[in-house]
Amino acid sequence: MAQGILVINAGSSSVKFAVFTDGGQPEPKLLFKGQMEGLGSDPSFQVRDATGRKIDERDEWPRGSTLNHVGALRYIRSWLGDWAGNVKIGAAGHRVVHGGLDYDRAVRIDEGVIADLEQLIPLAPLHQPHNLAAIRALAEVAPKLPQVACFDTAFHRTQPRVAQLFALPKALTESGVRRYGFHGLSYEYIAHRLPDIVPEARKVVVAHLGSGASLCALQDGRSIESTMGFTAVDGLPMGTRTGAMDPGVVLYLMQERGYDAKTLEKLLYKESGLLGVSGVSNDMRDLLESDDPAAAEAVDLFVYHIGKHLGALAGALEGLDALVFTAGIGENAPIVRKKVCQRAEWLGIRLDEESNSQGGPRVSTLDSPVPAWVIPTNEELMIALHVRDELRLA
Ligand code: ADP
Repeated sequence: MAQGILVINAGSSSVKFAVFTDGGQPEPKLLFKGQMEGLGSDPSFQVRDATGRKIDERDEWPRGSTLNHVGALRYIRSWLGDWAGNVKIGAAGHRVVHGGLDYDRAVRIDEGVIADLEQLIPLAPLHQPHNLAAIRALAEVAPKLPQVACFDTAFHRTQPRVAQLFALPKALTESGVRRYGFHGLSYEYIAHRLPDIVPEARKVVVAHLGSGASLCALQDGRSIESTMGFTAVDGLPMGTRTGAMDPGVVLYLMQERGYDAKTLEKLLYKESGLLGVSGVSNDMRDLLESDDPAAAEAVDLFVYHIGKHLGALAGALEGLDALVFTAGIGENAPIVRKKVCQRAEWLGIRLDEESNSQGGPRVSTLDSPVPAWVIPTNEELMIALHVRDELRLA
């Protein structure tokens, strides 16, 4: 029977999952991808096969059922029992947002690891509790299944110390108030693909542009800088997050406008970014279709900040050999790529309009001094690779 790897990405109201088989091929192969959404309110379940074809869904649940993480994982497990055929799930990998300073790679989960990760909840209160809830829920549903935690922060632990420091008193730094960086699984996947795509590029900036957005500077495949810092609200403006902002604004809102921590959290994470600026939507597709000038302004602001931070990361790298676009916007919005490349002409990027409008993969001209590429990210595969390495399933 083929070995299977279950990949879990749990949020507050959803559990996304993917199943890979792992039998001798160079990389685990995707079998299914699905999600249970609406946890705590109105659950809905959907699964697609590796080609993206919908193979099962369920929206009807007994009246009043509000599944939690345990219920969702129980359902997913029994669904796999019916559908995964001759694949036996041998291990699970979880996307975990925060691994702090100590976890610089994926780790097999035990009670000690769970206790360490609980300590990090205050550093990622919107994500870490749900990641841990799914780990505990799966342990309850399948107690013998080995579980591996794969961290969004781990890939950035190679950054030089100066890139990880705030200019704060040393005691605060030593107590953990420092720059961690996020989207690490996405960047690690891109770094894993780069040698096949742009083997000559040593200094690369990767733009992960999704609902959350950040840039990462890679030197020889290792992270040396990124736009996200202590939390995932730093750096670029995002769907609903502010991105980097003068901390004086926060002080002013507290002292003069009576904002408390909860109101500020909502403002910084949920009400700002593309949504706040446009007043239209947090979704790039809606903004690009809208004829509201505020929607255009939100797109301009997004592009402006990408261009500005790209310059900063090229500065950290002391050069630039390639630019890579990835994630929902980076992979699917040619107009955003075009505007970013136009802003980056001074760095040596020459856009190839036609190739860009067709989705690349190379979106710069052949004689562009610095090439620009679209590389679809695959965080689930990265997690499956970590699980395989960690448990030596192959
Ligand atoms: P996350 O995984 O962080 O939720 P994604 O990487 O899926 O985010 O990216 C979501 C973003 O990608 C949304 O802003 C969405 O509008 C944008 N997006 C997806 N497809 C397109 C498209 N065809 N054109 C423009 N934007 C797109």
